Amino acid sequence: MKIARRIGYEDFQLYRGKGDDRGKKFKFFIYGSHESWLEAQKKFGRSERVSAWAAGNRTIFSYHLNLSTKILLHEMAHEIHNEYIRYRHSPIWWKEGIAMFSSLSESEIRGRVQQARFRVINNTHIPLMQLIFFYEGEEECDLVYNVGLSVVVFLLNEYGASSFTAFNKAMREGKNFESALSSVYDIRNISKLNDKWEEALQDWKTWESMIKNLPKMLEE
Ligand SMILES: [Zn+2]
Repeated sequence: MKIARRIGYEDFQLYRGKGDDRGKKFKFFIYGSHESWLEAQKKFGRSERVSAWAAGNRTIFSYHLNLSTKILLHEMAHEIHNEYIRYRHSPIWWKEGIAMFSSLSESEIRGRVQQARFRVINNTHIPLMQLIFFYEGEEECDLVYNVGLSVVVFLLNEYGASSFTAFNKAMREGKNFESALSSVYDIRNISKLNDKWEEALQDWKTWESMIKNLPKMLEE
């Protein structure tokens, strides 16, 4: 599956079990009316403003099936990534970045990385260490997604696919985000990652190479 392949999860199985026990891994709960959706959200203690979420146990809740394939793919990407790294904790911008990277098209990714880059160049971005929750308002909320996506693209462009796979595997094998970062990339912590990421986004030549290498990263 494309989503799993993009994060290097080669042995991902869409189905669980074998033979007669074989069953679909993902469960989708779709709500037909706005009232039943709000009620379910309240029951699970979720925000009223989101239109879908991944519950973390391969279950995806969504308001209306026709809402958007893109949103469902995004939520599935969260679930696949979680399964891959065995539900290890990582920063929200990283989780969202991975979900965006594995489910969006090349042009969508390019546009979002460009937005993140624009903010860094204008110094209107929020450093990675401080980006620890979603913000109100649509544009501010996009920050987390665009920043995360641009970090994923930066690491892939700078250090290549095999390091990226090694990083995910390190987390899968029990390392936390920062120790995986220092063991695979020799970047000591999120603050150091932030410095390198800012520097890369500010550089025109790096941006050009990101654009050039993006199709290869996505294997499209
Ligand atoms: Zn998400």
